[in-house]
Amino acid sequence: MIVRLIHARLLDPTETEERIGSLGIVDGRIEAAEHPALRKAPTWDLEGRYVAPAFIDLHVHFREPGMEAAETIATGVAAAAAGGFQAVVTMPNTVPALDRPELITAQCRRARETGRVQVWPCGCLTVGRMGNELAPYEELIRAGAVAFSDDGRTVADPRVMEAAMRKLAELDRPVLDHAQDPAAEQRGVLHDGAVARRLGLPGIPAEAELRVVERDIAMVQRTGCRLHIQHLSVGASVERVREARRRGLPVTAEATPHHLALCEDDLPGADPNYKMNPPLRTRADRDALIAGVVDGTISCLATDHAPHTAESKAKGFMAAPFGVVGLETAIAVTWEVLVASGRMSPLEWVRRWTIGPAAVLGRPAPSLRPGSPAHIVVVDPNAQWTVDPEEFRSRSRNTPFAGRRFQAWPVAVCLDGVWVKGGGPS
Ligand SMILES: [Zn+2]
Repeated sequence: MIVRLIHARLLDPTETEERIGSLGIVDGRIEAAEHPALRKAPTWDLEGRYVAPAFIDLHVHFREPGMEAAETIATGVAAAAAGGFQAVVTMPNTVPALDRPELITAQCRRARETGRVQVWPCGCLTVGRMGNELAPYEELIRAGAVAFSDDGRTVADPRVMEAAMRKLAELDRPVLDHAQDPAAEQRGVLHDGAVARRLGLPGIPAEAELRVVERDIAMVQRTGCRLHIQHLSVGASVERVREARRRGLPVTAEATPHHLALCEDDLPGADPNYKMNPPLRTRADRDALIAGVVDGTISCLATDHAPHTAESKAKGFMAAPFGVVGLETAIAVTWEVLVASGRMSPLEWVRRWTIGPAAVLGRPAPSLRPGSPAHIVVVDPNAQWTVDPEEFRSRSRNTPFAGRRFQAWPVAVCLDGVWVKGGGPS
């Protein structure tokens, strides 16, 4: 494809300011609008819509192998492309768990067969995610694993966790840390607070997260391992991450769209589409997360896209699995909370979805500079769209945002120089 995009508000996260301008797409690369190949190219007048490098999501669950009724790699990749993402990091809690190199290789191969979104698998921290024996990191890295996590389950034994972090410090790979003390979590299903008491449901205390955040930051100090804390939910954890970063420790963190947009007060009764782990916490926690994203303490946004079938979510709040889908509403929700609210500039928001995650993985910063791969998302800040889960490319519909109206949407997505959603002339 060869096309010239004009009158775009360009959000290049490697630049210091947004600017109105033009750019070209020539055979899978971004080029300056003056590039000779573009002389007779079709032109798409974007009339002030935003153009940014397509986003990177550090935290998704595609359910293949093992739970394909909820999501396959093909449907997950389609959802990611529609949501404006160029790359996703897939969590290893499949069945079987991604603790062997052949499973990582198979996932990479399947991803290449199914679409243009890059799938970067995260390998298990421990064999079978059982928290006892370290997974074979070198072999998993050779097969394509970009990071390590027992996502959904914290390594409870501190000796095992510290051994994992020592090893991964040597190999210079990050731990993606699901921080939640299993002893404190018990059988809780939502935040241990006023709403849990009103609904008569067992709670997950904030300390369950805070305790592991503190434990693992202390291990960073001893091991030098890069630690990325997944889906922060508690205000005090944000403060711990802020202190750690101030001390120069290699600690990063992510927040999800749902933890930024919602709190426990938003639960419309015991609706399983509001059941996720960690749970929606208090309004004060949510405000602390937003402040952390705004000041850069939380350098990444990530969806924790966790598809589940309608049948499994229909089991009621106690029995339904944790998790909500997020890839196809991520841009709309985070734009509303962070940009439309006036808290952040569009450019700074783009950084949390691009440079932030790329840095965690040690990858080059996505940019719109000539020569960069043509992975771009066009965001219309005035698209005005209502979330209809029936329209999702994902195989699952478990979202708390059904029926909510949002302003900004990814209206066109180009990956490898090909429009995979929307798009103008090509
Ligand atoms: Zn997760």
